[in-house]
Amino acid sequence: QAKARGRGAYQLFEPEMEEEARSRHALEHNLRGALEAREFHLVFQPQVRLESSELTGFEALLRWKHPSRGFVSPAEFIPIAEENGLIVPIGEWVLRTACATAASWPDVTVAVNLSPVQFRARGLAAMVTSALAEAGLPPQRLELEVTETALLDDSEATIEILHQLRALGVRVSLDDFGVGYSSLSYLRKFPFDRIKIDRSFVGTLGESPESVAIVRTIASLGSVLGVETTAEGVETEEQLDFVRECGCTAVQGYYFGRPCPAAEVARTIETLNAVRRVA
Ligand code: C2E
Ligand code: MG
Ligand code: MG
Ligand code: MG
Repeated sequence: QAKARGRGAYQLFEPEMEEEARSRHALEHNLRGALEAREFHLVFQPQVRLESSELTGFEALLRWKHPSRGFVSPAEFIPIAEENGLIVPIGEWVLRTACATAASWPDVTVAVNLSPVQFRARGLAAMVTSALAEAGLPPQRLELEVTETALLDDSEATIEILHQLRALGVRVSLDDFGVGYSSLSYLRKFPFDRIKIDRSFVGTLGESPESVAIVRTIASLGSVLGVETTAEGVETEEQLDFVRECGCTAVQGYYFGRPCPAAEVARTIETLNAVRRVA
C-alpha cells in the first residue's frame, strides 16, 4: 500500500521521528547483549520511617552503562526491554543480585521493582523463592514493588501470583500510586503492605493545594486500611514537613539520599543512623 502510493508516503515521517526510530533500534540491539557484557549494575536508595526517623531499607534501582552512550535512563530502556521480553532475564538478574547484596546488610529490607511482563512469564514465584534461598535472605527482608500497569491487563492471574508471593513471606507494595486510572480499585483486590505515593504529588506540595489534599487523603486511606504510605521524591526539608503533616508514614527521596552503589550502603546506614541519634 505504502509502496503503491510512491515515495510521497514516506513524507509522513518527520526526520526527527526517523532519527528517534533509528536510535531506539540501536538501543534495542545493544540491550540484547548488555546482560552478558555485564553492563548493568544496581544502585540503592534509602527508605526512612518517619515516626522514628529510622532507616528501614533500600530500593534497588537498575542502571545501564552503555559502552558508547554512557548511562541510559531506565525510563528509556525498560519500556524497550518490556516490549521485546528482555525484561524477564534482566528482571531476574536484578532480583538475584539485589537479594545477594542485601544478604550482607544488617536487618533492613531491599525493595525490587517488578515489571508487568514478569508476571505474564511463568514461574515468577518459583524464581523469587530460588533467589531468596540462593542468597540466604529471609523473605521478610524482601519487598516487591508493582505498579498498577502490572494489574491492568490480566488482573485475576496477577492477583493470584501476588498471593503466592505474599505466601512466601515477602512484602508487596503498590508503586507510583495516584497517577493511574484505577489505583483505588486495586487496593480492594489485594492487601498491599505499602502504598508509594507518586513523586509528582510530592513535588508540587508547595504550590498546589490539590496535591496537599491528595497526599493527605492517600495517607489517611493508608491509615484506615493499616497500610504504610511512603512519599516518593522528597527533596527538601519543606516537603518532608509537608508529608509528615499529611500523615505519611515513610519517605524516600534525595533529601535522605540519592541512590548509591552497593559499596556505599554500609556508610549510608551509618550516616543516617548517626543523624538519627543526634536528632
Ligand atoms: P520508581 O520505582 O518509582 O523509582 C523511583 C525513581 O525516582 C528512581 O528513578 C529514583 O532515582 C527517582 N527518585 C528518587 N528520589 C527522588 C527525588 O527526590 N527526586 C527525583 N527527581 N527523583 C527521585 P530511576 O532510578 O530513574 O528509575 C525510574 C523508574 O524505572 C523506576 O521508578 C521504576 O519504575 C523503573 N525501574 C528502575 N529499576 C528497575 C528495575 O530493576 N526493574 C523494573 N521493572 N523497573 C525499574
Ligand atoms: Mg519503585
Ligand atoms: Mg515510584
Ligand atoms: Mg516510577
